[in-house]
Amino acid sequence: MNTTLNPAQEIGVESLPVTAGANAPESALLCPACGGENPLDAVFCGNPSCHKALGEFRYVLEEIGAQKNWLERLADRVALFVSKPHFIIFHVAWFTLWIMLNQGWIGPLAGFDDYPYDLLSFILAIEAILVTGFLLISQNYQYEYSEKRAELDYEINIRSYRKLLELEKRLDALSASESRVNRP
Ligand SMILES: [Zn+2]
Repeated sequence: MNTTLNPAQEIGVESLPVTAGANAPESALLCPACGGENPLDAVFCGNPSCHKALGEFRYVLEEIGAQKNWLERLADRVALFVSKPHFIIFHVAWFTLWIMLNQGWIGPLAGFDDYPYDLLSFILAIEAILVTGFLLISQNYQYEYSEKRAELDYEINIRSYRKLLELEKRLDALSASESRVNRP
């Protein structure tokens, strides 16, 4: 008798589930957000205005971004601006102009905030409080992002580990059945 045995059937293991990917009949990956077609190996949607993550797992930035309110979005923008050289250039230009105006070197507004520039100090104190607040909000968000990413990494690790264990068991079962078949 020369029949080919299906080891999976023989040892009573259910056949491996066909996951979307190499074995799937589809030739394109559909984006759940915009419905656009993407190559099967795409990680992000090719549509530039969409750019949704196409993975099996939740995408951290996407999930956290959806939960943000307007204040947190504003805080992000402020934190981004503060961390750029524009911020320093803007302040140097502002101070220079302020001093030149109040010393009467330029313009008609001479002396609206005489030395030692109390009004400027007052504005700067308020600005410092606001910027600090926004930075702290943005930092909280960064912390939340790191936490979420760690959680996601952990989830992927656990899933991979379980998958590996399952594969190992199936391999063991296969080799056991094979040695049984080959036994004279
Ligand atoms: Zn899309």
